[in-house]
Amino acid sequence: MASARAALSSAVRARRYDIVEIKHGSCHCGAVQFEVELDRGFEKLWRCNCSLCRRKGAIMASVTVDRLRVTKGQDKLSLYQWNTRQAKHYFCGVCGIYTHHQRRSVPGEFGFNIACIEGVDPYAFGNVPIGGMACPTHLSIPVRSNNRLERSWFSSGEVRRGVE
Ligand SMILES: [Zn+2]
Repeated sequence: MASARAALSSAVRARRYDIVEIKHGSCHCGAVQFEVELDRGFEKLWRCNCSLCRRKGAIMASVTVDRLRVTKGQDKLSLYQWNTRQAKHYFCGVCGIYTHHQRRSVPGEFGFNIACIEGVDPYAFGNVPIGGMACPTHLSIPVRSNNRLERSWFSSGEVRRGVE
């Protein structure tokens, strides 16, 4: 684990010259702070309609795992895992705000809550796709008020196609 972390940080150092922008983020109470490195602004903005994300309602962007660092409050982060337990959903254990998660569908990426990023107005993004570019099948999922359809989708389809 330590060697993996060292390898990651040296990879980050090697790439320093390409970095265009570092954005700072925090939870609501400030116990958890993090930074993300971006080359071309926020990429792959998406919302997710899995049973967890639909409750959070966050707009997310993603970066490769070496480009998000928790700079304060690592020990304040709580981890939530469910279903296949592959994705790692982190949130502040003090104020409860979701900050980031290691994705199930793309384990090499962290999704993060753009509303946590300094100076970002999450309401300014207009229509954000559900599912995002990483999972085109997610875009065609019918979200209906038909309870039976929703139940069947969220009990079986979520494992197969949910993007988290
Ligand atoms: Zn907090």
